[in-house]
Amino acid sequence: MRIKKVTTPFRWLLLFLPIALITFFLARPAPPPPEDPSLTRSTTPAKTPRNLADLALPPDWSELERFQRTISRETFLHRLQAIYTKDDSWKKWIIIDEEKKTASLGDFTLFFSDSDQNPPGAIFDWQTRSELSPHRSLPLAGLHIALDPGHIGGDFAALEDREYVWEDVIIREGTLTLRTAEVLAPMLRERGAKVTFVRSELSPVTEKRVSDFANPRLFYRTSEIRARAERINQSLRPDLVICLHFNGTASQIPESSQNFHILLNGTYTAGELAHEDERFQMLQRLLAGTIEEEIPLAREIADAFNKHSSLPPYLYSEESRTSQNIGDHPNLWARNLLANRLYQCPVIFMEPYIMNSHPFIARFREKPEKIFLEYARAVAEGLTRYYSRS
Ligand SMILES: [Zn+2]
Repeated sequence: MRIKKVTTPFRWLLLFLPIALITFFLARPAPPPPEDPSLTRSTTPAKTPRNLADLALPPDWSELERFQRTISRETFLHRLQAIYTKDDSWKKWIIIDEEKKTASLGDFTLFFSDSDQNPPGAIFDWQTRSELSPHRSLPLAGLHIALDPGHIGGDFAALEDREYVWEDVIIREGTLTLRTAEVLAPMLRERGAKVTFVRSELSPVTEKRVSDFANPRLFYRTSEIRARAERINQSLRPDLVICLHFNGTASQIPESSQNFHILLNGTYTAGELAHEDERFQMLQRLLAGTIEEEIPLAREIADAFNKHSSLPPYLYSEESRTSQNIGDHPNLWARNLLANRLYQCPVIFMEPYIMNSHPFIARFREKPEKIFLEYARAVAEGLTRYYSRS
C-alpha cells in the first residue's frame, strides 16, 4: 500500500513547529537564582530542598515544645519586633492567631500563655542573675562564665584576614583576644566565678582544616564557630558567654580614631529568616528570653568600658538592614552573627578599639599589656556591677 503523500501545508507545519517550539523555550525568562548558595548545599536528602545557612543541619522543631505556654503574645511580638527584626518579613513565616492564642511557625504551633512564665533554656538551663543564691559571699559566686577569644590568631591570623603589619608592629586579633581572656579570667575567678575558655590556644577548635573547603571562610569562620557552639551548648553549658574581639577596618592606611560597641543577637534580615535553621535559632533565643539578661548586663559592661577607655560609640547607619540600636544605650546594637546566634545562653559580643588606627598602634607599640588590662578591668567591673545588684 502506498503511503499517502503529505500535503504541502502540512509539510510546512512539520517544518516550522519544532523551530517555533525551540524559539519559545529559549525566549522564556530563566528561573530566578536560589536566594542563597546554601540551597544547593543542603545536607539532607529531603524531597523538597530545605533552605539552610552554610554547613547547617535542619532543625528539629519539636525541640520548641518546652516553650509551650511560657510566653504571652505581647512579649513574643515585642521581642520579635523590637530586637529580632527590623521589617515585616517575619510575617511570611510566623502567623499569629489572636483568637486561638497561637503562633504558627510552619509545621510547629506555639501556644501563648496569658502571662509570662519562667522559661527553660533552649538547649540547656543557664542561670539568670535572680536565680543565683542571694547569700553568696562574692558577687560572681555560683556563676559559670565562658570566655570566647574571637578568631584563631597566631599562624592562622593572616588566613583569617585578622592580621595587620605596620613596620615593626604585627597585630593579630586572635592572639590579642586570647591574651585579654588570660588577663580577664583571674579577675573573674577572684570575684567567685567559674571561668572556662572556649579556645585556649592559638589553634582552631574545629577539626576541619582549610583544605576541607573550597572557600577558606567556611573553615576559619563557619566551621570554627559551629565547633565552638557545639562545645558551649553540649559540654561547657555556661550561664553566659563573653565573646572578646577587637574591631578593625579593611583600610590599608591607619584610621585616625577608634570607637566601641557591643553586639547582641538580633535584626534578622528577610534572607536570614528564609533560612529554616536561622529562623529556628532566632525563636530559641526569643523564647528562652536571653535578651532580658543580655541588655541590662551589656549596659553595665558598656558603662564600665566607657569609664575606663572613653572611646566614642560606633554608629551604624539608620538605613542598615542588618543592625539597629537597642536597649536605650548608644553602645548597644543588635546584629545576627553566627556566634551570638548559635551559643544558646546570654552572649555579650565585645567590639572595642580599632586595631588599625594610629592611637591603637601607638599604644600597642608602647605596651600592649596596658590595653589588655584596660579591656579586662572594664569587663570584670561591668559583670561585677550587674551581678551585685539584687
Ligand atoms: Zn573580631
